[in-house]
Amino acid sequence: MSDAAIDSQETGPSKGLDTISLLSSDDRLKGRPRLCSDCGLCDSSLGSLMSTSCVFVRNQTQEIEQRLHGRNRRPDDELRFGIHRAQYAARLSRPNPKAQWTGMVTALGARLLEQGLVEAVITTGAAPGTRFKAQPVLARTPAEVLATAGNKPCLSPNLSLIDAVREQGIKRLAFIGTSCQVHMLRAIEAELGLEKLYVIGIPCSDNVTYPDLEYFLSQISRSPATVAHHEFMQDFSLWLRHDDGQVERVNYIDFPMDKLHGIFPSACLSCFDYPNSLSDLTVGYMGAPLGWQWTLVRTEIGEELFELLRPDLEFGELTEGGDRTRGMPRFMERLTHPPGAKKPPFLVRKLVAYLQRKKGSKGLEFARAIIEMKLLRNLNYVRSKFARFESRVVPRHVYETLAPYAETYEQTFGRALAPPADEK
Ligand SMILES: Cc1cc2nc3c(=O)[nH]c(=O)nc-3n(C[C@H](O)[C@H](O)[C@H](O)COP(=O)(O)OP(=O)(O)OC[C@H]3O[C@@H](n4cnc5c(N)ncnc54)[C@H](O)[C@@H]3O)c2cc1C
Ligand code: SF4
Ligand code: SF4
Repeated sequence: MSDAAIDSQETGPSKGLDTISLLSSDDRLKGRPRLCSDCGLCDSSLGSLMSTSCVFVRNQTQEIEQRLHGRNRRPDDELRFGIHRAQYAARLSRPNPKAQWTGMVTALGARLLEQGLVEAVITTGAAPGTRFKAQPVLARTPAEVLATAGNKPCLSPNLSLIDAVREQGIKRLAFIGTSCQVHMLRAIEAELGLEKLYVIGIPCSDNVTYPDLEYFLSQISRSPATVAHHEFMQDFSLWLRHDDGQVERVNYIDFPMDKLHGIFPSACLSCFDYPNSLSDLTVGYMGAPLGWQWTLVRTEIGEELFELLRPDLEFGELTEGGDRTRGMPRFMERLTHPPGAKKPPFLVRKLVAYLQRKKGSKGLEFARAIIEMKLLRNLNYVRSKFARFESRVVPRHVYETLAPYAETYEQTFGRALAPPADEK
């Protein structure tokens, strides 16, 4: 573990508990707006386009959807998952052991290069000497893409590589990234002069800076220095795999929330695109049964991408179970308590974890549940900390998705769910 992480065990998250701040104390980020996910655009020579493209200045989801699909979302699962033509539970028949799940994302990036369909892939590797510190990589060979397998679960300025793309005269590009990066990329796409752009999205929520990731691991794991891989699983627990192969599981209900409050950047708490809806193809896991990758094909280019990978895939079934709407009133009620309130006693927590696993939402219903919860939590965050920004940063589908809970919302929070009349 780095010195920063050891210090942070004493002091809390790098930006301080309960501070609304940009990201961290990193010097490189001084002067950025308070809502910034460090997507990298402002590090590039196109930084002057920030005011017209940053999702935290103005969320352009609706305009970008119109451009990509000629329409906006239908009032069904598209509200939560984004517009898609098909969705699958799939996985590589020969999984890559270094990958986050089975390695579909990096296999696809490598395939695009192998077949000469692109000249480069923007992907995220690990900074030298670290496991998890994100470092954007402009990969020119299949091996370079494959070397970036696995999550670096912290903010990564991937769009900073736009300058290298332009300097190297790259005209056919694949981009792998999080939802905020994809929004900014779509907003500046026309400026890049590309002949072809493939956008492979990964779902993303509650990301953190690298120092805060180290802090998080120090609070959660019995051995933070040996964590080789970790993932927030669909069974309501975090799985941490250690160097010796052992898997440590921590139930969400057991997280020390009093110590974690303040860890998430304001930007990630003001983010409304968990499923990366503006990509061509999204590859995640949360809507699929354990062990499978949840894959959403969104555009014609997404279909092309999926067909490229199809020969390497095996398919499962997308299933669903439970009823997410039953948990929502309790979730809202919990949001009214100050963060970091005392944890319930051990036996109660054990029972809750058991019931979550046994009776909680599963499969696609789990994905709906978690997406709705994050939309609601983040709407309330914007309303409480950045109220003036609501009409610019909260897209329409948030209100439409949450509309079935409008009455409970009003009873719980004493205000209407819908945006103020002049913002409609
Ligand atoms: C911070 C974070 C949160 C996530 N949360 C969810 C979630 O809640 N639900 C869900 O279904 N999926 C989530 N994912 C995606 C999921 O964990 C897998 O990355 C995805 O399913 C691809 O798995 P794979 O085995 O195909 O990827 P691999 O083949 O192992 O490739 C991983 C790819 O992820 C990219 N990557 C790694 N770190 C970053 C980063 N910091 N920023 C941008 N790109 C990165 C790399 O470029 C690489 O191409 C999250 C990913 C990240 C980075
Ligand atoms: S999120 Fe990106 S575009 Fe927005 S301010 Fe930060 S670096 Fe700039
Ligand atoms: S949670 Fe949202 S804002 Fe934060 S890194 Fe992920 S996509 Fe970007």
